[in-house]
Amino acid sequence: MKLRTKIHLFTTLLMLILLALMNTGVYVLYEQLAINTEYKQLKTRSEELLTSLNQITDATATDPNFILRAYMPSDGAVRVLNGSGKQISSVYASLEIENIKLQLGKDEKYAKSEIDGIPVIMTETPAIWIDGSVVKLQLLQRLNEVANNAALLKLILVAVTVLIAIPLLLSNMALSRIILKPLERLNLAMKKSGTTGNYEKIERAEVGKDELAEIGRTFNGMMEALETNYRKQEQFVSNASHELRTPLTVIESYAKLLLRRGFTNEKVAQEALEAIVNESGRMTDLIIQMLELAKNKEHASLSVNEIDLSLLLESTAAQMRQAYNRTVELQGEPLLFVYSDEQKLKQLLFILLDNARKYSEDKIVITTKKQDKSICVAIQDFGEGIAEDQIPHLFDRFYRVNKDRNRKTGGTGLGLAIARELSEKLQIHIHVQSELGAGTCFTLLIPFNIDVNKEKDK
Ligand code: ADP
Repeated sequence: MKLRTKIHLFTTLLMLILLALMNTGVYVLYEQLAINTEYKQLKTRSEELLTSLNQITDATATDPNFILRAYMPSDGAVRVLNGSGKQISSVYASLEIENIKLQLGKDEKYAKSEIDGIPVIMTETPAIWIDGSVVKLQLLQRLNEVANNAALLKLILVAVTVLIAIPLLLSNMALSRIILKPLERLNLAMKKSGTTGNYEKIERAEVGKDELAEIGRTFNGMMEALETNYRKQEQFVSNASHELRTPLTVIESYAKLLLRRGFTNEKVAQEALEAIVNESGRMTDLIIQMLELAKNKEHASLSVNEIDLSLLLESTAAQMRQAYNRTVELQGEPLLFVYSDEQKLKQLLFILLDNARKYSEDKIVITTKKQDKSICVAIQDFGEGIAEDQIPHLFDRFYRVNKDRNRKTGGTGLGLAIARELSEKLQIHIHVQSELGAGTCFTLLIPFNIDVNKEKDK
């Protein structure tokens, strides 16, 4: 059964049952109240009859049936029963009522029965009969008026139920439509995604402020994110294969050259082997960096400790001096401490210092400055600089400003992409300032402490 039908059936049935229960209650209450009123009137009448019987002085001169008839309810009867329960006298309006058998139960105020669906009630009062014996006076009455009114009430209640049921049904239909339409759209989009293999979105999901519209928007947002990620992965794979193909082609061509002429010409063999070693080294670097990027994507937890930033910068600079024989100056405030992940911070500094080294010949200057909530570390080189329009793309994977220039420096275009991932993890803000021919400055704003809640939200 479809969800729409289930909602229709359930809500309509429930409402109808509730209405029927309510109406039955009203009907039963009305009938009870009406019979009670009639009973009270009958009781008064029987007391009046009793008084009249008590006033008889000459038993032989008065016909008791005459008095009984005077107090007989319309469409009713009066019966007189002796001590053993035998009927000694009676007057009645019809034979049907005379023949009806009614017995008053213990603690009951009146007995009730029906003739052709019309209620009949009976009251019983003890009395002294004209001959001085103790008798029971029974007054019976058929409640035609009550029956007529109850029938009319029943008709009105049924009509009201039907009248209410129609708008109820319509509103249920509208409600289930409101609920199910967005779900149907969601289902359609998912099915379409399954069959076409595309990241299909829900049409018209942006309208409405309710939870269902919110689900639609979340779904569309999720699809958009998945699509963007997929495109990025696709781009990454195609870039990676392209980058790997170049050194492989070089290796292959030099290996062929080596095969053809390498055994006879030592100079050619030397050149070919050097090129092969260089290119395989480049490939290794590329693969290591690609793995690094993949590793950074996995949300590995940070190991946050107090770091002596001045010491860390000094040791990194010293490594640079040692490895590349370059001048690296350190300026600014000493004794700077931050809470961060030392390994990752060192890796980030190393990428930026290595770039400064690769793309400049002159000295490299590192300047530190304490700020409100962070420490500012500027890495300045005096190299070729970067054109302004290239700066927004620097952190893209495999992006290189000048491919020929970087081939010489052995760059892969992944260093700054890794730096961005690291800085996001460490909540470090990176700013780039550069002037062509004058040099480049990468500025890091390292927070005193990593906001753990922000890290969890990711
Ligand atoms: P690569 O491995 O090529 O250095 P990066 O992602 O580290 O890759 O850098 C991307 C590009 O940005 C580099 O190819 C280079 O052209 C440019 N670049 C990065 N740092 C500097 C710098 N300090 N000076 C000039 N150009 C730079």
